[in-house]
Amino acid sequence: MSSSSGGPNGEKLASGLEGAKKEADASPTGGNAVSQTTEQCPKCDCCGEDAHSKGQSITEDQFYGLEPVTCANGTVVPADPPNAQSYIRNLRAQCPGQFSQPPCNNYFIATADEKHAILRTWKGNKGGEARAAIGAADGEDVSHRVPKAAGGCPVGKGNLTKSSDLSAECQKAEGTLANRQGKRATLLRAGAGV
Ligand SMILES: [Zn+2]
Repeated sequence: MSSSSGGPNGEKLASGLEGAKKEADASPTGGNAVSQTTEQCPKCDCCGEDAHSKGQSITEDQFYGLEPVTCANGTVVPADPPNAQSYIRNLRAQCPGQFSQPPCNNYFIATADEKHAILRTWKGNKGGEARAAIGAADGEDVSHRVPKAAGGCPVGKGNLTKSSDLSAECQKAEGTLANRQGKRATLLRAGAGV
């Protein structure tokens, strides 16, 4: 399931399904053929472009192992042990700049290909523009609040934090956090079989 970015027509085909004939599709308000098209091109809530992952939508707590994840195929990826959970909880309290904020707070079980596509976008022109938009200095580290491995938006301002916005302590935690993100993403992919 993806975050249904509820279109202007809030009324889902309440009753029209039965009577709807296949033929007329020109009428934009007609009740027929709606179900096929509404979910076709989900958008990223952060940058407005096409969504960066088609994978299962999960929460930040699930991504970081604070809660178990039941994958679409029925596999349950358990929560992490308590000490690992405390590490994340404490870090999130101390270093909120490295964790998500609305509207850029969508996590996914993203495939490796999707992650690579996100990385390419980030390394490309759009990424350069995004760096400039948040005032990152040349060569300055910029981290993604929702990591690329979780289908995080590569270029939306709300998903980016530049290193100079973080305390020295939080900067130091970057390596451990990145390591944790990679491991969780791998575990979730394995569970989901993607
Ligand atoms: Zn985006």
